[in-house]
Amino acid sequence: MRTAKYGVGVRKRVDAIRQLRSEKYACPRCKKLAIRRQSAGIWKCKHCGLVMADNAYSLSSKVI
Ligand SMILES: [Zn+2]
Repeated sequence: MRTAKYGVGVRKRVDAIRQLRSEKYACPRCKKLAIRRQSAGIWKCKHCGLVMADNAYSLSSKVI
């Protein structure tokens, strides 16, 4: 049985999404790098408490 079950293409995409998901993003209100993903499409700033809806796995506006 092969361990690489889904092939390298899928694995690369999953890795990219995992990385984006765990990254911090700049807050449009307080400009701090404190936006973290709460759940799919929900992003919250740990600094000022701003909550916003965006993409499921990344923030479309990384630097504002
Ligand atoms: Zn903020």
